[in-house]
Amino acid sequence: MARGVRVQDGRRERKPVPRSNGSLSPQRAERKDGGAAPGLRALLSEPAGLLYLQATAGNAAVTAALDPSTPPARFSVQRYDSYEHVEAGAVESFMEPAESTYMVGKGETPAQIARKLSVTVERLLERNRKKVHAFAIAGGGHEQGFEAGDTIVVPSDKLRVREPAPGETVKTDQKPVTINGVTMSYGEAMAMADFYKDFAAMEAAKPAEIKALLALVRKQVATPGSVSQADWDTASGGRYMDLNRKNTAHFAPSDARLVPASGASSGSNHKEAWEANHRLALDAAQKGDRDRALAINAFGDHFLTDAFAAGHLFNKEDLMKKVRLSLSTTEAVEAFASPVATEVFKDPASKPICSVYENVHTSFKTAYGRWSINSASRFASVLEGIDARMPDVLENSIAAAVHDDLNAKGVHVSNTKASWVVKGDDNLEPTALFYMREAVAQSQVNVLNAVGAATVDYAKAFKAVWDLAPQPDTSGRAEITKAVTDLADPKSATTVTAVGAITKANLQLIMDKVEAAGEIRKIK
Ligand SMILES: [Zn+2]
Repeated sequence: MARGVRVQDGRRERKPVPRSNGSLSPQRAERKDGGAAPGLRALLSEPAGLLYLQATAGNAAVTAALDPSTPPARFSVQRYDSYEHVEAGAVESFMEPAESTYMVGKGETPAQIARKLSVTVERLLERNRKKVHAFAIAGGGHEQGFEAGDTIVVPSDKLRVREPAPGETVKTDQKPVTINGVTMSYGEAMAMADFYKDFAAMEAAKPAEIKALLALVRKQVATPGSVSQADWDTASGGRYMDLNRKNTAHFAPSDARLVPASGASSGSNHKEAWEANHRLALDAAQKGDRDRALAINAFGDHFLTDAFAAGHLFNKEDLMKKVRLSLSTTEAVEAFASPVATEVFKDPASKPICSVYENVHTSFKTAYGRWSINSASRFASVLEGIDARMPDVLENSIAAAVHDDLNAKGVHVSNTKASWVVKGDDNLEPTALFYMREAVAQSQVNVLNAVGAATVDYAKAFKAVWDLAPQPDTSGRAEITKAVTDLADPKSATTVTAVGAITKANLQLIMDKVEAAGEIRKIK
C-alpha cells in the first residue's frame, strides 16, 4: 500500500498518521426539573384531556397533534461531510489502462502478434514505437517489426486499479458527470446522495435545485463548515433534514456482535444501497450509456464512502430499535427527556432561544395557562410531545451521539490490504482517504470496463470494491460495542450528556422545526 502520498490540491498535505483527534461534526438532534407542567403526551393519553382539547382548539389541532402524517418536526442529522465525499472522487491516479506485456517470438510479425492479442496492429506499433525497427525484406524494401525476445506492451481498452507510489503526486482532476443537464465532478455527484432518496429522485429534480445544492457543496469544499444545516435544508426544499432522520441506508449492515439485531430490519444499509446502485450503473454501461452509468455510479459511491466513516460502522435501524425498547413507556421517555432538557438549559444561551416560543395547544391555556418555554421542565414537555408524534427523533439523537463518539475516537479496522484506525466525518484520515479513493476507482473501473460488454460478473465486481471497505476487527468491535453500551442507554448519564450537547448545538434549528410542525409558536 502506498502511504505518504502527497495531495496536489495546494490546500492540505495528508501524511499517514496513526491517529489524529478530530472535532465532532456537529450533529443534531434534544427537559423537566420536577414536572412544573405535564407533558403533551400525558395530556393526550388522558381521555378527559383529549375531549378537553377538542372542545377548545377544535379538530384541526387534535388532528395535527395525533395524526402522524402531519408534517413532522425534524431534527437529526447524520452525514459524511460533503467536502470529504468530493475529495474521494479524485481517483485518476488510482487507475491505468489494463495493459500487459508480451515477449516477441522468433519471426513473429506485428500483424501476427496483433491478431493473437486482439488488438490492431496500428495500436500495437504506436504503443511500442520505440521498439519498432525497420527490417529489410527480400526483394527490397523494409517492413516494420520487433526484435525477437523484445518485451512489448499490449495496449488495452480496459482499465485496472493501481496504487500511487509513495511520494507520487496524486492527480486531483475528476471525471465530469451530468445529471438532469447539470454538470459536476464525480465527487460532487457523490455528495448529492445526502439530498435525494435515490438517483431517480435526483434525475427528476429541477436543475435549479441541483445547481443550488451544488453551489453549497462547492462553498463547503472551499470553506469546510461554512454551510449550515438550515442552508442544506432550505436548498433541498426542506427534504434534507427528513432524509437524514431516515438515513439507515448510510449505515452498516446488521451485525448482532455490535448491536442486537432487531430482526425487523428493512435491510437498508450502505452495502445494500451501494450494490443496488452499482448494479444499475453496470446495466446502463452494458447498454452502452457510459455517461449515465457514471452518473448513477457516482450517486451510489456515496454509500461506499460512508462505509469508511467510523460513525457509520453500526446498523442504525438496529440501534434505534434497541433505544426504543428502553423508551417504551411514557415514564421512560419522561425520565430521559427531563435530564436532557436540564442539560440543555445549563447553557445560558438555551433559555433566550426557547422562551420566545409558547405552547400552541390552547387547551393548556385553560388548564395551565399559555406558557413560554422558559424552563427545562417545559422544554422537556416539548421533547416528550415530539417523541409521542415522531418516536424516531429521540432515537436519532441517540444514534447521533454514538456516531459522533466513534467518528472522533476512531475504530480499529482492516480491509484486504491493511489495518488501521478509521475515523469519520470531519476527521477523515489519510489511510481512509487512500483506500476510499482506491475503492471508488475500482467502482469506476468496473463500470467503464462494462461499457458495451456482453456479460458482467456482478458478484466479482461487488467483491473487488467491497474488499477495500474497512471492517471492524476484534478491538474495533469492542470499541463499537462500548460506544453503544455507554451512549445508547437513555438511563446513562453519558447518553444524556451527549444528547444534551447535540440538542444544544442545534437548538434554534430544532425549535424552528417544532414550530413548523405546529407544536409551538413564537409569542406575539
Ligand atoms: Zn451519507
